[in-house]
Amino acid sequence: MAVDVEKYKEIISTLGDKVKLVAVSKTKPVEDIQELYDLGQRDFGENYVQELIEKQPQLPADIRWHFIGHLQSNKVKYIIPFVHLIHGVDSFKLLNEINKQALKHNREVYCLLQVHIADEETKFGFSEHELETLIDTNFRELEKLENIRVCGLMGMASLSNDENKVRNEYKKLKALFDKYSSLSAFNFQFSTLSMGMSGDYLIAIEEGSTMVRIGSLLFGKRGTI
Ligand SMILES: *Cc1c(COP(=O)(O)O)cnc(C)c1O
Repeated sequence: MAVDVEKYKEIISTLGDKVKLVAVSKTKPVEDIQELYDLGQRDFGENYVQELIEKQPQLPADIRWHFIGHLQSNKVKYIIPFVHLIHGVDSFKLLNEINKQALKHNREVYCLLQVHIADEETKFGFSEHELETLIDTNFRELEKLENIRVCGLMGMASLSNDENKVRNEYKKLKALFDKYSSLSAFNFQFSTLSMGMSGDYLIAIEEGSTMVRIGSLLFGKRGTI
């Protein structure tokens, strides 16, 4: 149950100033989150809406909560009042709903577009082609969403021991990130490339990640829920 403090310090020093750590606390108790908070960690990631809205009021208000799971449109309203960054945006419909709810709360909400880079069926995200359609063809529609701020891309590599495979998937995501980094609008300006988890964050950093999402290395293995 306890946090691996030595590992935390090691990761923080490896990342330096350029790469941000999101500590992924899904299924872990608020005591563990508080322990990392007390060491200075402020960015935490959660996957489940219900779990997040239960934990958030029990913890310090200056935590930056990252929603990294698959977000259903009908649940957006529950996290909009406080969420810092939504990583897994994978449809225009979802962007539209985030915009609508953000407007209600008079907030601008930061979003990352999730791209499907793994060859596994189960991972969510835009295909490369869908991403191009959204940005190249429908940019005018995107620009109408005044309460969102699209600030980059997120991706998950295949769960594989083949380092080259993982590396190539991250290369692909970085290339897309670079391609759209020159685009700029008041609500669209890339700065964040969210890639890398416990098993592959060192590869992700070598390939240009600016934000890693690490859970089990910090909090220990998760049971199934
Ligand atoms: C659970 C999860 C992580 C963290 O995974 P670990 O392997 O425990 O580091 C990162 N990103 C997403 C999207 C997750 O769902």
